[in-house]
Amino acid sequence: GSASRDRLRIAIQKSGRLAEPARSLLAACGLSWRESRDRLFCYGESLPVDLLLVRDDDIPGLIADGVCDLGIVGRNELDEQAAGRARIGLAPAYRELRGLGFGQCRLMLAVPEDWDWQGPRQLQGLRIATSYPAILAAWLERQGIQAQVVELSGSVEIAPRLGTADLICDLVSSGATLRANQLKPVETLLESEAVLAGPAQGFDDARAGLAQMLLRRMDGVLQLKDRKLLMFNAPRESLPALQRLLRDAGPLIELPAENGEVALQTMCESAAVSWQRLEELERAGARGLMVLAVERTLS
Ligand code: ATP
Ligand code: MG
Repeated sequence: GSASRDRLRIAIQKSGRLAEPARSLLAACGLSWRESRDRLFCYGESLPVDLLLVRDDDIPGLIADGVCDLGIVGRNELDEQAAGRARIGLAPAYRELRGLGFGQCRLMLAVPEDWDWQGPRQLQGLRIATSYPAILAAWLERQGIQAQVVELSGSVEIAPRLGTADLICDLVSSGATLRANQLKPVETLLESEAVLAGPAQGFDDARAGLAQMLLRRMDGVLQLKDRKLLMFNAPRESLPALQRLLRDAGPLIELPAENGEVALQTMCESAAVSWQRLEELERAGARGLMVLAVERTLS
């Protein structure tokens, strides 16, 4: 359980893949900090929300122990530690509050390239190297397979060549590391991304309101990710053709305009308002096309 506090404390990765995107996300939510000399603790200036910069492995434990209130960490790390806790009979002390849309990767089984993969049954009696022993053990159990889990903290992908394991279970994003080690991915155990994690039980002090406000802002930021506002004018008779071109956009909102024209606006994915699309809209009668970045939304 966590002691009562009137400031919210968020743990993020100090350096590594999630460090920069986590800070940008929190900054987009209106947070700013005074940097400390040791760069381990950042005091919140705009709001009573402080940052703790740590190794990602430490984040689930910091939340479980109530040292931090929230954390931004890979689902892989969060689930691994939850599975590890479950194995020794501990309750899950934290939960995933939001998927954050960055740090995507998969926890996968990968086998030597020359294997003829025929499915999980093939794993019976083999040795699998991984940094995710608890997730792997739980998966093997569900599959009804007995295999030996070889726990390694790093360089898992060289284990088959060293002869310390027959195959591996590791994080994969592009697959380049696997290819460089003559391995191929064959099964996905977990689809992962960075997540916002919080305590299993909510807060009962000033932190409750702060956490709620932060979540609402974060939802606004996540909703707007890659969204643009498209605005233009057009003669009323071009409307059906323009609507057809904008099928993949949000609802087209009509605003009053002058001399037989309509003013239109719609929210859409950035990809839906490429230069080519704007040129097509122009040929169909649109004038004064504008694509605007959307800063904030509250809904
Ligand atoms: P730390 O020093 O904080 O322990 P780390 O080496 O454990 O750092 P990183 O390599 O920075 O961690 O990865 C952090 C997270 O990024 C991973 O836990 C995972 O969720 C995500 N990630 C995305 N793509 C990959 C990938 N290809 N390999 C490893 N992690 C990835
Ligand atoms: Mg780590």
